[in-house]
Amino acid sequence: MEAKQIRTTFIEFFQSKAHQFVPSSPIVVKNDPTLMFTNAGMNQFKDAFLGNETPKFSRVANSQKCLRVSGKHNDLEEVGVDTYHHTMFEMLGNWSFGDYFKKEAIEWAWELLTKVYQLPKDRLYVSVFEGDSSDKLGLDQEAFDFWKKIVPEDRIIMGSKKDNFWEMGDTGPCGPCSEIHIDLRTDEEIAKAPGRSLVNQDHPQVIEIWNLVFMQFNRLADGSLKELPAKHVDTGMGFERLVRAIQQKSSNYDTDIFTPFISYLEQKSGKKYGQDEQTDIAFRVIADHIRAISFTIADGQLPSNNKAGYVIRRILRRAVRYGYTFLDFQSPFLYELCPLMASQFGEIFPEIREQQDFIAKVIQEEETSFLRTLDNGLKMLGIIKSEMKENGEKVLSGKVAFELYDTYGFPLDLTSLIARESGFSLDEKGFQAEMEKQKTRSRAASESETGDWVQVEEESSVEFLGYDQLESQSKIIKYRTV
Ligand code: ATP
Ligand code: MG
Ligand code: MG
Ligand code: MG
Repeated sequence: MEAKQIRTTFIEFFQSKAHQFVPSSPIVVKNDPTLMFTNAGMNQFKDAFLGNETPKFSRVANSQKCLRVSGKHNDLEEVGVDTYHHTMFEMLGNWSFGDYFKKEAIEWAWELLTKVYQLPKDRLYVSVFEGDSSDKLGLDQEAFDFWKKIVPEDRIIMGSKKDNFWEMGDTGPCGPCSEIHIDLRTDEEIAKAPGRSLVNQDHPQVIEIWNLVFMQFNRLADGSLKELPAKHVDTGMGFERLVRAIQQKSSNYDTDIFTPFISYLEQKSGKKYGQDEQTDIAFRVIADHIRAISFTIADGQLPSNNKAGYVIRRILRRAVRYGYTFLDFQSPFLYELCPLMASQFGEIFPEIREQQDFIAKVIQEEETSFLRTLDNGLKMLGIIKSEMKENGEKVLSGKVAFELYDTYGFPLDLTSLIARESGFSLDEKGFQAEMEKQKTRSRAASESETGDWVQVEEESSVEFLGYDQLESQSKIIKYRTV
């Protein structure tokens, strides 16, 4: 089954169960101070769950554009390194607002996966909330009993509050959830280690595909739980992971959602995907990031120097750097993927096709300006590295890192990453000291321009942690130049 058909089948399945199809809300969130980007299908129904709004339909299904690169869900550090977390992904979902509850949600999920999509039952595991003493909650017996009717007991896993209890925030609707995981390893591997023990352990072939949340309680300000008068269902299934399971691939990037992008990059670079781990990460990063960048621009968020725009700019630059470093792309290349984006996603998300030229133009301009900086900075860093090698030095000085930052706009995390790739460490304390000196020097100046790569201080909802934490594994240094 092709990806497009898998998506349509999901919607049609729930339509056949009296659900109303609702289009995806924008990926960029404009009117919620707690959220920059849509990170789950339920976002657009938040007011219905909070009781602030009466939903138009009591059963709804859709495919929602999501982005998980900031705030509570930040997967950026995983993206490209693993094969099943994306920055932008589609979340397929079905909802019940005060209508059906656990029984139907569980039975339909199972029916869709095993009868319609024909995923092998003996590869699926389900999890149930085991209870939590601080909330005086026991096992989610109801869910357990419904599962027990259709799944052998040894495929049901007890999950903790962390994995199996969903909360919107400190207060508000919440409840237990049941997740469905799939073991995509080979028979030989399965014979060696049972999949049960690998669920929720970040195993690249034993992955979560669907989360069924049962909104049953309201968390009050004093921390206690009150049973909701009307109970709701909120489910989310990663479309790319589902497609991978159905197409029996060992990576999301081997599905027909991504292969056209990988093929294009292979052709352009003259390199083959699947031969070198570092190069492969670059292929995956680019194939992933072009989606995040295109969808956010289409929804009105241009790359810029602050907040959501800054997040997008950094994602774009991460892709450019990987292309430059590992695929030898010395001139703008990302924008060339825009026609592919339109043909792959224009049908379900027409904004991508309608704004194709505009998106390409924005991306190309960003690439051009960043490549200039990157080129100059990398050249300088290259000279420094060879000098260090000659002198047998192992630590890149804070002074050099600061100069790269100050003159070439290199953020510390980027310098640190490049240093590590060449076997050097970085004197971060020294960097901070230089930074302090700089601040003192410029205190007299009323204002200075904010560099592109400056990590802004965490304020309000701005929080972009992934790149720094993940790639450099160093502590984030938060500062601003003003
Ligand atoms: P994981 O544990 O794999 O990070 P999650 O528990 O954070 O997933 P949920 O918040 O439960 O994910 O979201 C519902 C579904 O969305 C997941 O079951 C998964 O299939 C999918 N999903 C979550 N994060 C991503 C991502 N970064 N890229 C692709 N799919 C994702
Ligand atoms: Mg997650
Ligand atoms: Mg999970
Ligand atoms: Mg989950």
